[in-house]
Amino acid sequence: MNKKIQDAINDQIQAEFQSAYIYLAMSAHFAERNLNGFAHWLQLQWQEEIEHAMKFYHFILRRGGSVELKTIDKPEIELTNPLQIFEAVLQHEQYITSRINDLYALAVEEKDYAFQTLLHWFIDEQVEEEENATDIIEKLKLIGDSGQALFLLDRELGERAPEAESNE
Ligand code: MG
Repeated sequence: MNKKIQDAINDQIQAEFQSAYIYLAMSAHFAERNLNGFAHWLQLQWQEEIEHAMKFYHFILRRGGSVELKTIDKPEIELTNPLQIFEAVLQHEQYITSRINDLYALAVEEKDYAFQTLLHWFIDEQVEEEENATDIIEKLKLIGDSGQALFLLDRELGERAPEAESNE
């Protein structure tokens, strides 16, 4: 397979696993504070990021390429209050969106149509990721210092169900 594309996808596999690791650290932080709904939501987020990494992983293998797993860093995030944590989630997803956009630009440049098709899924997914984080941020802003409202949001986030598995 095209070496430039293979290298870029291997970097993206690392970025997706890195995202998973960041969300798992956030999930642990909330679980330690008995905000188990937030912890649950972020643990599902962790699982989704692993699935994202694996979509790219299988794509390389199906194209006859070579997977190169890279180092995952210790999550460097400031675990302060829920609002700041979800602002960090949004910022991180915006960073991932810019990476996906760069991959798409490369796929167009290299005339790799199969890769463009794979990336269409990710482009839609990133709209959803940013929308979800923004939605929680807006709620946290309304909640302010109300412990009772935070408790209710925690309960709501605890009801998040895993997304239906795609057939890849
Ligand atoms: Mg992702």
